[in-house]
Amino acid sequence: MKPQVEIYDTTLRDGSQGEGINFSVADKLRIAEKLDAFGVHYIEGGWPGSNPKDIEFFAQAKKKKFKHARLAAFGSTRKKGVQVEQDDQVRLLIEAETPVVTIFGKTSMLHVKEVLRCTPEENLAMIADTVKFLKDHGKFVIYDAEHCFDGYKLDPEYAVTTWQAAEKAGADFIVLCDTNGGCLPVEVAEITKVALGKLNCRIGIHTHDDIGLGVANALVAIKTGVVQVQGTINGYGERTGNCNLTSVIPCIALKMKKTCVPEKSLPKLKELSQFVDGIANMRHNPRQPWVGSAAFAHKGGMHVNAVQKLSASYEHIDPAAVGNRRTVLVSDLSGRSNIVMKALELGFKLANDTPELKAILHRVKELENEGYEFEAAEASLALLIGRTLKHRELPFRVDAYHVSMRRNGTERVCEATVKVIVGGKAAHTVAEGDGPVNALDSALRLALGKFFPHLQSVTLTDYKVRILDTATGTAAKTRVLIQSTNGKRDWGTVGVSENIIEASLQALVDSMEFALLKK
Ligand SMILES: [Zn+2]
Repeated sequence: MKPQVEIYDTTLRDGSQGEGINFSVADKLRIAEKLDAFGVHYIEGGWPGSNPKDIEFFAQAKKKKFKHARLAAFGSTRKKGVQVEQDDQVRLLIEAETPVVTIFGKTSMLHVKEVLRCTPEENLAMIADTVKFLKDHGKFVIYDAEHCFDGYKLDPEYAVTTWQAAEKAGADFIVLCDTNGGCLPVEVAEITKVALGKLNCRIGIHTHDDIGLGVANALVAIKTGVVQVQGTINGYGERTGNCNLTSVIPCIALKMKKTCVPEKSLPKLKELSQFVDGIANMRHNPRQPWVGSAAFAHKGGMHVNAVQKLSASYEHIDPAAVGNRRTVLVSDLSGRSNIVMKALELGFKLANDTPELKAILHRVKELENEGYEFEAAEASLALLIGRTLKHRELPFRVDAYHVSMRRNGTERVCEATVKVIVGGKAAHTVAEGDGPVNALDSALRLALGKFFPHLQSVTLTDYKVRILDTATGTAAKTRVLIQSTNGKRDWGTVGVSENIIEASLQALVDSMEFALLKK
């Protein structure tokens, strides 16, 4: 069945124009496959006329079979004063051999006069010639009306004439573009209504997020009657980015109740968002609506208490609908419910009337006051809860350690010795490292490895240091956050001390202890 709103993804073209985004051909192919599996309707692969990488992408993509999506090559109308058959950039669009070709053309008289520097009639001919030429080559043609809203505001009559030129030449879709991203939803609604009245072909919307309204503007256009929305995964794009598809898709499906991507794809939205961030080597934005890790995180004690009773009380939708999950943050703002829900999440049996609950909450607040932070150190929190519930004995104890550092000319040596006690037996080891913490980590792992060989698979993936009380200078407290992995799962631990080595050791010891619990 035809969806009510088609999704046109331009992550690989407009998205790759975002700061810090750089896709190789292999990256683009992997993203295209993922988008196809997710169920978007169009994938704009690139602009063959602008770079050889995109030509290579289309050459490779030709060999792939896409199940849902149709591949689109992107380009512009022919140059002024050139026959369309003679235009190299247009020729490359045909040679990309995609079923869909999307071209952009000028709506705005300002751009015609000042940027293109041609007559208004020549601009109309450029639009019509190019659309017709592509149609004659059997393409499904999408016409992106660049600066559509700004152009209309400047000279409505001419703007409409440019869209009609594309339609008369046979364009299958006219897409209204807020290229500069500065329009307000009321303006978008008004001008979209005009376009719907003047044109007979289908209409789409392409917005940018320059004033934080990319998604809002797309939704208002859909509400007015357009049937295609263009955007990028995670809102990548020039300047502040494009309309964010990871927001607009669930808004269409779950809020406006219109069909777009297959229903079974929605719970894979967060995964898609993380996948694309992973390939782009971008940190996943925790505050991203719908799919961010904080999108359904509850921190304030009162909120958590209410969510424990009724999840809908502080959640606009079930997080699972988009593949996200509810998390509870434990901090000095916490109440009993935070601890109970977090404990359940971490696998402990705890209820609001468990006697140890008060002691756990008290200890958490005490430690937070000393500078500990458990939001990124769930493993340390799990150990704290476990210890207070007295479920087990400590598997090992660090009896003594020594760290030394010396420099001889250009040679630098860091050395650490550690003595651990496990079940009455002691192990004493020494190790060198690039720095004191690295040496300490190696020595500790070596000592524990004698008793627990599987700890060898644990590695540190991140080490963060934060000085807590800057007013007291070097005597300030240091918080160390460590992220560890055993290849199967990741966990975070925390240590706080006036001594950075001591703080690091605490976090390292917690990390090892947690690894022993979760083998
Ligand atoms: Zn754009």
